Parts: sequence; C-alpha cells; structure tokens
Amino acid sequence: MERFNADICNAVNDWLRSAVKNVVIIPHVNPDGDAIGASIGLNDVLRNAGFETQVIVPNDYPAYLNWLGTESSPLIYEQSTEQCQHIIDRADALFFLDFNDSKRLGKLEDYLKTNTKPVVLIDHHPDPQIQAEYLFSDTNVSSTAELVYDFIEALGMLDYIGPVGANALLTGIIADTGSFSHNASRHSTFRIVGELIIKGADKEKINDSLFNNFSEKRIRLLGYCLSEKMETFPQFKSALIWLTANELKQYDFHPGDTEGFVNYPLSIKGIVFSAFFMEKNGIVKISFRSKGNFATNEFSGTHFNGGGHRNASGGETKLPIKEALALFRSLLPAYGQQLNKN
Ligand code: 5GP
Ligand code: MN
Repeated sequence: MERFNADICNAVNDWLRSAVKNVVIIPHVNPDGDAIGASIGLNDVLRNAGFETQVIVPNDYPAYLNWLGTESSPLIYEQSTEQCQHIIDRADALFFLDFNDSKRLGKLEDYLKTNTKPVVLIDHHPDPQIQAEYLFSDTNVSSTAELVYDFIEALGMLDYIGPVGANALLTGIIADTGSFSHNASRHSTFRIVGELIIKGADKEKINDSLFNNFSEKRIRLLGYCLSEKMETFPQFKSALIWLTANELKQYDFHPGDTEGFVNYPLSIKGIVFSAFFMEKNGIVKISFRSKGNFATNEFSGTHFNGGGHRNASGGETKLPIKEALALFRSLLPAYGQQLNKN
C-alpha cells in the first residue's frame, strides 16, 4: 500500500467499481515468465472480484508457462486477430503489463494506435513512454508480478488471490529474479513471496516448470552453443554467444528454448557483460546481461535499437548476423574502462 499514492489508488478503485466491467490485460511481445505470470495473476484476481477479463498476448509464449493458464487461457493476437480485436473493442479498460514503450506491443501496436480506452500501466522498466490514465511504474521492484501484488493490495483485493493467481505471480517474481539471484535484495519481495505461498503458490513446481522442463534438444543446443559458439574477451570482461537460424533449426528450436542462455557466460569468473545474438524471423535478436554497474540498457539503446533494465536488456538489428557480431566486437574497446570498473 505504501508504494502507491493512496489518492490515486482510491481513484482507481472508484473508477474500476463504477465504470468498468470488461477488462483486457496485455503484456509485451515475446512474453516471458514475468509478463505471463503478472498477466494471469491480475486476470485471476480481477475475475474473482467479478470483472469480465481476458489476457491477450501479442504473440505466442513458451509452452512451459501453459500450466499457469486458467480455463480462459491467454488469447494470442497473431493467431486469433479478429477475436482479439472484438474483445478489445468491448473492453472498458486496458491493462498494459511489463513494458514501457508501445513498440513492445508487437502487431497489436497498430491496432491500438487509435485506442481511446483508459489504460492502466503496471511496469518496472525505466522511462515509461506510454500514455496511460493510471501509471504504476517502479524500476526498483523485482518484477511486474510483484508490482501487480502491490496494486492488488492497494486496492484491497488480496482476498481474491487464489492458487492460480498465487502461482502466476510467484512465477513472475522467480522468472525475473533468476530464482532470487538478482534484483531481489528487498525484504518486501520476500514478504510477498511468503504471502503467495500462504495463498497456495507451489514454489517447487514453479521452479521445476521454469528451470527443469526442457526438451533434450534444448539442452544439447545449450551445450553446442557454449562449447562451440562462445567467445570471451577477458580484457573487456565480456563474452559473446550466438546462433544462426540454421543451427536453431538443426536443434528443432521452439519459442523459449534459448531463454536463459545469455546468463551462462556470466558464471565465468571475471566476466561481467554477456551478449547473445540469434537470428529470428529475418532479423537478429539480441539479449544482454551484466553484473554490477554496467548499463546494458544504455549499450543496447545506443547501438541495437533496444532497451530494458540495467542488468538485463535486449535489442534487435536488421544487419546480417556476421555484421552485427562484428559491430559488437568493435564496440567493446570503447567500453573497456567502464567494464573494468566492475
Ligand atoms: P530478453 O533478453 O530476456 O529477451 O529481454 C530482457 C529484457 O530486455 C526484457 O525484460 C525487456 O525489458 C528488454 N528487451 C528485450 N528486447 C528488447 C527490445 O527489442 N527493445 C526494448 N526496448 N527492450 C527489450
Ligand atoms: Mn519484467
């Protein structure tokens, strides 16, 4: 409750109770555990509170998150475009979760360009660039799922969190903190985790579905990637891994298979900056991770049309992958001093 201004929370409460029946909840494109967990968590609570709700994701999400869905699991805009448009048209309110820029709406961006419905944004990325009636943004919070919990608490709706919502929200927190290894030093995160466990979240099952639920091919792809496709730059405390579309095909790639690959080089002593480049849908998608102060989101924003958090960000480029990799290697010396400060 302390996190959010009480007047704003009262205003949201009055508005929800007086003017809202149909709610649509939308997370970012290529949704991850936090985007899906926060969305399903909020969906479940609002539904239990009597609202008509629907989660609409811009595109497909990894299968290991399927178990979180309720009887009304998320609709995928790229696959059921007309149905999604119809549901959005009927909505009284849109909740945008876990993104700070409308570019992250994927193909939904176009459809929502002319949107006049009230938007509530709940997010933990820096500098939100989204027009919203109500904006709940805090970059210090572990995950959007944690912020959703705060939002629910501020609205006096905690009693509506059942096991479905509790599992979804805890999934978001565990996914975005790498099982409490980063961005999880605040005691409030652990207070909320405790409450979610009381409400029926199954931490073992969540951990298992996030981290021990891969295909054999995915593990072999990881092995191949680390053994054959990793370059280290000890003088810049950096490492690079990359995969081409052909390699992904050889290993029967499915969405989500490469999630987490970028973290492995950071487990090498002395490496504080890791980059992962992969060919995806005709472009090169990039993930960056760092330890300590190195701001990967600034690096990504300056050179790779991206953004995100200081220690976890992403970007993309239309350059052929060889050129994108060459650009990355050529940029490192200019950041040598910053990287070596870590
Ligand atoms: P991941 O590497 O897991 O795809 O993304 C890590 C974080 O980087 C995400 O939480 C998101 O905030 C950010 N991110 C990833 N890709 C992009 C992108 O293309 N543009 C922007 N602005 N942020 C991104
Ligand atoms: Mn997040």
